[in-house]
Amino acid sequence: MRKRLPKHIYASLLKTMKEDLPLEENVAEVVANAMKDWALELGATHYTHWFQPMTGITAEKHDAFINPTEDGKVIMEFSGKELIKGEPDASSFPSGGLRATFEARGYTAWDPTSYAFIKGTTLYIPTIFCSYSGEVLDKKTPLLRSMETLNENAKRILKLFGKDVKKVTTTIGAEQEYFLVERDMFKQRKDLILTGRTLFGAKPPKGQEMETHYFGRIRGRVANYMAELDRELWSLGIASKTRHNEVAPAQHELAPIFTNTNVATDNNQLIMEFMQRVAYRHDLTCLLHEKPFDGVNGSGKHNNFSMSTDTGENLLNPGDNPSENKQFLVFLCATIEAVYKYSEMLRISVATAGNDHRLGANEAPPAIVSVFLGEQLTAVLKSIETGEPVTEAKDLVMQLGVKSLPKFIIDATDRNRTSPFAFTGNKFEFRMLGSNQSIAGPNITLNTIVADVLSDYADILEKADDFDAAVDALLQKSVKENKNVVFNGNNYSDEWVEEAARRGLPNLKTTPEALAEFTSEKNVALFGRHNIFTPAEMDSRQTILLEEYIKTINIEALTMLSLAKREISPAIVTYTKEVVDTLTAKKAIGSIDLSAETALAEKLSTLFGTFITAIDTLETTLAAAEECEGEQAEANYFCAEVIPAMGALRTAADSLEEIVAEKYWPFPTYEDILFYV
Ligand code: ADP
Ligand code: MG
Repeated sequence: MRKRLPKHIYASLLKTMKEDLPLEENVAEVVANAMKDWALELGATHYTHWFQPMTGITAEKHDAFINPTEDGKVIMEFSGKELIKGEPDASSFPSGGLRATFEARGYTAWDPTSYAFIKGTTLYIPTIFCSYSGEVLDKKTPLLRSMETLNENAKRILKLFGKDVKKVTTTIGAEQEYFLVERDMFKQRKDLILTGRTLFGAKPPKGQEMETHYFGRIRGRVANYMAELDRELWSLGIASKTRHNEVAPAQHELAPIFTNTNVATDNNQLIMEFMQRVAYRHDLTCLLHEKPFDGVNGSGKHNNFSMSTDTGENLLNPGDNPSENKQFLVFLCATIEAVYKYSEMLRISVATAGNDHRLGANEAPPAIVSVFLGEQLTAVLKSIETGEPVTEAKDLVMQLGVKSLPKFIIDATDRNRTSPFAFTGNKFEFRMLGSNQSIAGPNITLNTIVADVLSDYADILEKADDFDAAVDALLQKSVKENKNVVFNGNNYSDEWVEEAARRGLPNLKTTPEALAEFTSEKNVALFGRHNIFTPAEMDSRQTILLEEYIKTINIEALTMLSLAKREISPAIVTYTKEVVDTLTAKKAIGSIDLSAETALAEKLSTLFGTFITAIDTLETTLAAAEECEGEQAEANYFCAEVIPAMGALRTAADSLEEIVAEKYWPFPTYEDILFYV
């Protein structure tokens, strides 16, 4: 931009990006032209307004730069108007009843605070998306609004500490987990193709118990994949930084360098897209589902969150002496208070059908939201509460007992892998996100709830005569009232579930349970107060999320039925025939022991009977879903009735898989898939 734009235009655009100032009109025209020249030089022929509708994925429609001239030729043009506004037909995007289908007009509008990029032959321009009548139809607009409210309220606090900064942004580094499987295997499994996860599959003799995969040697094929993925991401301006093998076999992780929440959200969408694209080129398939395989770990996303000023100060950095760092303590306590007050909303922000397989399943954080602080900060908060002085932990030097090894200073606290919301040195890590989900939703929530508490704090502190005393009183009150949400122990344990119940922390176990709370009075008031969502927009989003849940489970159930009836059942019939034929042939010889074949035939018949009954039950259960009235009732029904019926069918099929000869089994098994790449 600096190279291609006139100085004053560049300066003006930068002001818009860095200080949230409105875009000046003449700027768009010049920027559009420079963007076009840049894109044409890099081989682009088209441009698109790239947006993020409520489907959770991205949307695009390409237009060529060509414009006819009077002499019957064309020129390549791109105007400021075209940069600023697009008018895609909005009728087929989910609106949750906000809009009738015939009201088709929608608008996209340039978001100058995220970067345009070129992919293939198209210039991609990040945009927001709304309806003709101004209702928000995307994930981007509320995200930007939430960043603004956080900015405003954080600045109020900083001002009281004597700091007049121009802007506070939230920063996000989203670590992304994924599986890689052989494409040929993937193609043989309709469940993976249609639902992204295996709906059948007996537990293989070897799972992840040897713990050899985590941080294991990255083998050639995967290493090549990762190298190409990095190059692709770097060329898009995405700072992919860390790559490693994860806990489950065939599972891996990528982490980019953190950036502001808006850019991080766009980048994460592109990371997920390129993980899949690049896999294709290596005859692999990348699975982003939260639980592709039963019995081994699923995939999540760790949303590392902090707040930072335009001058580069990380507001969650405790510094050398956290107990004296009042400004840090205010931001820390505000975040803890926000998590406590709105823990339901955080849980709701990660509620999807796929993520229900992870949360609370002894591998991922439970559905109970709590905060890990570690010993040092817990001690600091305790001293705030009691008024007794705290002894700051001095730097500890690691002694390894080997003279030639370098000495280094160790962290003040160990890590806690099990916490859903963990303080990790100078940021919080929100670990409940599903691998497949857009990070927009959780960050809309995070920004808004923290802004809300900061705004309460600012209201109190702005009125105080004695600022220092007011801060101390505020911190003490906050620690006392919110310490219930702090938990440094093992979040995977059953004792914690009981302890959390005693503390009154909500435990919204399933997506329908969580989504029911989305439109609670408290949440509607919260988002209304900060102009993030109107009550109507909240209703519509709740409807969309419930529908998404219902559709997901419905597709899974139908896929199961199809596989059960058309692939597994014939395989069992054929194998049983072979066993019975052998039995008959042996019988003809006479006086031979037939007990083994008889037992096998009997077992096959019995299990097959259970299997067929489970098919019938799932079919009738699914059909009865039609009688539910309203999305909430239907989602509840799918959760309470359809999912258990699916579970019974799976159990029956998996026990058959264990005794049916391998060559008869209709699709690749867990061993085939998980240990192949
Ligand atoms: P850890 O090992 O604790 O997970 P890393 O340094 O590997 O820490 O960081 C994990 C992710 O957190 C990376 O994406 C990193 O860029 C991001 N991160 C680091 N600092 C911040 C910050 N201040 N705000 C947001 N994300 C951050
Ligand atoms: Mg981490």
